Amino acid sequence: MNASLSAPGLRPVSPSSAHPFIGRILEHPTSTARGGVPGILLVQGKPGALPPGFRAYLLEEASSDVGVSDAYVLPPGFHPLAEGDVVRVEPSNRRLSVLYRRASPSNSLLVTERCDNYCLMCSQPPRKQDDSWLLDELLELIPLISPETRELGITGGEPGLLGEGLLRLVDRLKTHLPETAVHLLSNGRRFSREDFAQGLGRLRHPDLMVGVPLYSDLPEEHDHVVQARGAYDETLRGILNLKRAGVRVELRVVIHALTSERLPELARFIARNLLFVDHVALMGLELMGFAKTNLPKLWVDPLDYQEPLRASVRILDRAGVSTSLYNHPLCVLPADLHAFARKSISDWKNVYFRECEGCSLREACGGFFASSALKRSRGIAAVPP
Ligand code: SF4
Repeated sequence: MNASLSAPGLRPVSPSSAHPFIGRILEHPTSTARGGVPGILLVQGKPGALPPGFRAYLLEEASSDVGVSDAYVLPPGFHPLAEGDVVRVEPSNRRLSVLYRRASPSNSLLVTERCDNYCLMCSQPPRKQDDSWLLDELLELIPLISPETRELGITGGEPGLLGEGLLRLVDRLKTHLPETAVHLLSNGRRFSREDFAQGLGRLRHPDLMVGVPLYSDLPEEHDHVVQARGAYDETLRGILNLKRAGVRVELRVVIHALTSERLPELARFIARNLLFVDHVALMGLELMGFAKTNLPKLWVDPLDYQEPLRASVRILDRAGVSTSLYNHPLCVLPADLHAFARKSISDWKNVYFRECEGCSLREACGGFFASSALKRSRGIAAVPP
C-alpha cells in the first residue's frame, strides 16, 4: 500500500464501530457487494437520507442527520476513491487507508514489515513489531478485489517470514483471482528450505513469479549490501529450490556505487550458473528509506555506469536470458539499451521533471521516482525530435 493513500482526519458523523474494518467502495446504492461482505457507500455531493444496508458510508460533504451508523466525512484532500477500491476504516484513530485501487496497474499486498535482511538501500526499512494481523486482513481483502485485475504484487519486509501463512495467501489468490498474475518480492532466504519451496510449487499458481535480489557474484559483497552474513548462500539455495519446485524466478539487481563496478562479473555468473532463471531486472536506485540515509555511500550517476551496464546487458542477452532495465530514464541510457528499458515505476510514485518538457522520448520513457527530486543524473535532458 502507498503510504500517501493513508490519511488521518476521518470524521465520524454518526455512531461508529469500535474496531477497524475493511470494505469495497460502491458508488451507487444499487451496486452489489463482492465476497458476501456489505460494501462501503461513497456519497458524492450533499448527502440526503442515506440508504440502510451498507457496512459504512464515506461522505464528501458533512451532514448532521444521516440516519445510519458508521458514516464518516472523508479526510480533507484525500485521494479520490472509485467503485471497486478497497479501504480500511480505523474509527478509533480516525484514519482511512486505501488497500487496493481498481484503476491502478500497480497494486501490492504488504504482508509484513519484518525482514531478515537489512539492505543498505532498502526503500521500506524493516520494523520489528508483530504485524501478523496484516495476513488476516489480506485474506479478507482478496475476495473483495476485482477479478479482472491484471497483476498484484506481494511485498514486505520479507514475505518468506510468514512461512505457511504465505502459502495460504498465494492459495487464496489462486482461488479468488485465477486470472491475476502475482509477483512476489522475496530475498529468497526462506526458500533455502526445500520443503517450503516445494510447498509453494505444489500450489501450482497459474501465473506466479518470485523476484529475488542478487547483488554480486561474490558472497561477501552480497552479504555486505544486505547486511546479513550467510544471506548469499541461502538466497542462492532458495533460487535453486524454487526453480526445482517449478516456480518462476526473476533476479533483481539494484545498481548503486557498491554494485555497479562488478555488474559484468555478476552477469557472467548468472549466464554460467543461473541460466535457468526466467528474467533478470537491472534496476536504478529509488531514493527512499535507507537509500536516502546512505546516499553518499550509494549514489552513482547512471551516466558513469553506462559501460558496465551495457556489457552486462550484452552478456545476459547473448546467453539468452530475458533482461530488462527498470527505473532508468531513457536519456541516461545509451541508445542501444533503449529496447531493454521498461516503464517500471508504480503509477502513484512516477513523475517527470521540468527537463522532460518537449522531449521526443516522453511517451516511451519511464520517467522518475518522485523521490528523485533529491538527486538525479547530470545527463537528464529532453531529447529533440
Ligand atoms: S528528458 Fe525526461 S522524458 Fe526525456 S528521456 Fe529524459 S527522463 Fe525521459
